[in-house]
Amino acid sequence: MSRIRLNELDASFKYRVAEQPGGEGIKACYACKACTAACPIEAVDRRYDPRKIIRMALLGMKKEVLESDLIWLCSSCYACHEVCPQNVRFTDVMFAIKNLAVAEACIPPGLTAQRTLLKDRGRLLEVGDFENEKREKIGLPRIVEHSEDYGILL
Ligand code: SF4
Ligand code: SF4
Repeated sequence: MSRIRLNELDASFKYRVAEQPGGEGIKACYACKACTAACPIEAVDRRYDPRKIIRMALLGMKKEVLESDLIWLCSSCYACHEVCPQNVRFTDVMFAIKNLAVAEACIPPGLTAQRTLLKDRGRLLEVGDFENEKREKIGLPRIVEHSEDYGILL
């Protein structure tokens, strides 16, 4: 992700992660990389490396971890959890890290847009003419949105 700047490290960051529900196991990691070898996301995007994310968090690279778009790529598949010899439970550590990112308003714009759609419309996909034309082509009825249908969610 980026180079280490010693004066910007936050030594308390690993403790903050460990205090979060699911984050407790982070300090047990001994960097064997079994999680990385098992990760399906790493297999398609080499920038994403569970072991590296843990090392960065342990080193105190709080800013680099929380502001990285990569932490949002985890698919929560638990493959890393299954192979870890230290029972770090990296999937849950990622939830802890993402919760801290949200608390510090480090949320990618795409996720913010999804949250707004879900809150305002009750679904992640806004249905417009384009979607309705595709529905009609395969014999599905049009979806017509009525504000009163989702008003209770506002
Ligand atoms: S498998 Fe477990 S101990 Fe090994 S690097 Fe991943 S989290 Fe750390
Ligand atoms: S839970 Fe996340 S980090 Fe772990 S293997 Fe799956 S995608 Fe990779």
